[in-house]
Amino acid sequence: MHIRDIKRKAFISTVLTVPVVLYSESLQDILGFTAPDFPGSEWVAPVLASVVFFYGGVFFLRGAVSEIKARKPGMMTLIGVAISVAFLYSLSTLIFGGKEFFWELTTLIVVMLWGHWIEMKSVLGASRALEELVRLMPTRANLIRDGDVVEVPVSDLKPGDTVLVKPGEKVPADGVIVEGSSHLNEAMLTGESKPVPKKKGDRVIGGSVNMEGSIKVRVERTGEETYLNQVLKLVKEAQESKTRLQDMADRVAFYLTVVAITVGGTAFVVWMLLKGDVRFAVERAVTVMVIACPHALGLAIPLVVAFSTSYSARKGILVRNRLALERVKDVDAVVFDKTGTLTEGKFGVSEVFTKGMEEDDLIRYTASLERNSEHVIAQAIVEEAKRRGLNISEAEDFRAVPGKGVVGTVEGRRVAVGTPVLMEQEGAELQEDVLKRAEDLESAGRTVIFVAVDGKVRGCIALSDRVRPESYEAVRELRNMGKRVVMITGDSEEVARAVAKELNIDEFFARVLPHEKAERVRRLQEKGLKVAMVGDGINDAPALVQADVGVAIGSGTDVAVESADIILVKNDPRDVVAVMKLSELTVKKMVQNLFWATGYNVVTIPLAAGVAVPWGVVLKPAVGAIFMSLSTVIVAFNAMLMRRQLWSR
Ligand code: AMP
Repeated sequence: MHIRDIKRKAFISTVLTVPVVLYSESLQDILGFTAPDFPGSEWVAPVLASVVFFYGGVFFLRGAVSEIKARKPGMMTLIGVAISVAFLYSLSTLIFGGKEFFWELTTLIVVMLWGHWIEMKSVLGASRALEELVRLMPTRANLIRDGDVVEVPVSDLKPGDTVLVKPGEKVPADGVIVEGSSHLNEAMLTGESKPVPKKKGDRVIGGSVNMEGSIKVRVERTGEETYLNQVLKLVKEAQESKTRLQDMADRVAFYLTVVAITVGGTAFVVWMLLKGDVRFAVERAVTVMVIACPHALGLAIPLVVAFSTSYSARKGILVRNRLALERVKDVDAVVFDKTGTLTEGKFGVSEVFTKGMEEDDLIRYTASLERNSEHVIAQAIVEEAKRRGLNISEAEDFRAVPGKGVVGTVEGRRVAVGTPVLMEQEGAELQEDVLKRAEDLESAGRTVIFVAVDGKVRGCIALSDRVRPESYEAVRELRNMGKRVVMITGDSEEVARAVAKELNIDEFFARVLPHEKAERVRRLQEKGLKVAMVGDGINDAPALVQADVGVAIGSGTDVAVESADIILVKNDPRDVVAVMKLSELTVKKMVQNLFWATGYNVVTIPLAAGVAVPWGVVLKPAVGAIFMSLSTVIVAFNAMLMRRQLWSR
């Protein structure tokens, strides 16, 4: 039923309840006042209460019928039974005499309806988090057709189309930039807070915002295939899949229903025997059933799941398997694949050693020469020069010496870059200290090249797969959380040792071929450790599957990684820490919610049954309904607080 219908039912029932309350004999007796009399005024309460019962209460009666049909008696059954008992009893007083019950029936229905409305609103809030994701996708696109720009609905786009994305507009589909460059804001999609610079040939994600320049994008994926839709699908699947705690909540709800009916029935019998007052006995039974409603229980887990999955999705943390999310906080060891995960996965300059020349000058001469080479070493050095903001000049007489290096003239000086053999050919002597330094660096897993200027060796440059700056923090935090951090790599022992030392990781496996990684994970598990494996979803797939929790990292827009339980879109190892925290908070919230949804019953069920009547404490059904609704509100609110607790970092 639509939330607006519930609100209308709640509102109209509330209005009708006012005269019912005023013309209720039993209430008039208690308060000692008389409502204005008119012919037929004795019919006000019964007639209007019947209207409320059939108009407002029918919502619960229908729910009860479908619960019973599905053989899953629960909240709706309890409410349905409670209001039916109250209604039939009150009707019977019209014939047989006795005190009616109409005002309590109507207030009960009113409180229940409003409670339901609040609940639906909060559930809607959770699904709104999902809707916000949907809304990131624009509806119209500027299609370039025969050189003209035409506006078309996004649904008309096909792979291969070219679209124009102007500054301030959203990218309409996943694709590749074919013209222009810009910065794109992907914050809402991947959680990458800084706008990402993009140029020709770079991939763009549908839904990201073009910040400045106009770009032309060749569409690659549309509709269901796009990153955003894949994310939505994953989030929906995760929200629908059941978890251990959800199963528990369902079981508790069932038992609570049984308890409610048993205690309610017993309370009726006992009070009949003690007091012989039908009205009083019915009231107690009804209150018990209302208060014990496992209403909040139905929401306790799904709301937490809804918030945790949809908010994390927007930070680029995608949960495929919810059980794995609940498990990941308990892992003992986190195994990282080195290359591309802890390190950047590409060559970079890590050390520069100079002799009789400024570092920047050495890099400048080298880069000016290397700009003409295609070698990975050359590219890394040119990049380093750019990073340092150095002016690269034109080289003359450039020549590549295969397998040895490059030579040429830069700013009128003869420069040679490469192996010791090349240095020898150039007649440049390798001094003791430079050699010693180079050997040290090589034994630490670096690749070292020498640089000679005008026939003199001026130093050496060490290159390696550079450690990501974020890796230090990730490893440190995981260790602080008491996790064993293990590194696994196909690289040589020296390289592995160097990176492990740098990152303060004390366990590593080197020279592990891709298919052996799963075996290493299994061996850790045989030692009794629960293992999370972090790696890419392709080469490391078997290891991800073998691990207790498989985390695919840096998947970018390809989020259909079947092998992983959790997918990290960004290539930031700190997100592994975020996943652990998400796991901890999610489980904590679920447990808290289970408590708030059931714990109060320990006190309120006996109270409702009338245990405290000798001390003058009598709970009215409507008060019971308020208690029950309150627990629902607390549960919903507690789940909503997650958002702040999660991303306050
Ligand atoms: P290659 O077989 O092309 O990988 O080259 C073997 C070795 O020659 C490398 O390990 C470097 O020491 C050196 N070398 C080759 N090309 C270059 C270059 N463009 N710049 C510096 N050193 C190079």
